[in-house]
Amino acid sequence: MDIVSIKCPHCGGMIERQPNTYFVKCQYCGGEVCFNEIKEEAVIGEYSDKIDELERDIDVLEEKERKFKRWFKAKNVTLTVLGLCTFGVFTFFGLTKDDDNTALMSIGGFFLVMVMCIFCFVLPIISALYPAYDSVTKKKNAAAQLKQLFNLLLTGIAVCSLGALLAYVLLSALGVV
Ligand SMILES: [Zn+2]
Repeated sequence: MDIVSIKCPHCGGMIERQPNTYFVKCQYCGGEVCFNEIKEEAVIGEYSDKIDELERDIDVLEEKERKFKRWFKAKNVTLTVLGLCTFGVFTFFGLTKDDDNTALMSIGGFFLVMVMCIFCFVLPIISALYPAYDSVTKKKNAAAQLKQLFNLLLTGIAVCSLGALLAYVLLSALGVV
């Protein structure tokens, strides 16, 4: 879109329209003018406040969406780590079945501590960070966060079962179990 000159509907002065602008204050009379895209003319504008308000609402929504995306990413990373650690616990303890290999035992122990930390601390923290707000009071929605904690603990157990199953498959393939 090129810069076009349009007649001010308030005072008749010529106003320049920059590309992608929809509102302008007339430089001669200070009147608010908005552009009619189709007719390529300027009309008296009273909507810029309303548009500002809508843009603010959109900003709030976009920020909310970003928060949700970050939260889901953190949740998925944690659950993946949980699954890998469970796999590690069973694999390394399984490998030490017949002999007292302290190196393997301590690796297994490390993964066990990680699994317990994720269940006791990380999952509750992630639930508490669930970005749910009451749109009227702007207060955190405790019920939604409690529901997330319940969901996360159940999902965590499912992920651990999967990790244990995969470890069992691996140990079977190695002929350990
Ligand atoms: Zn004017």
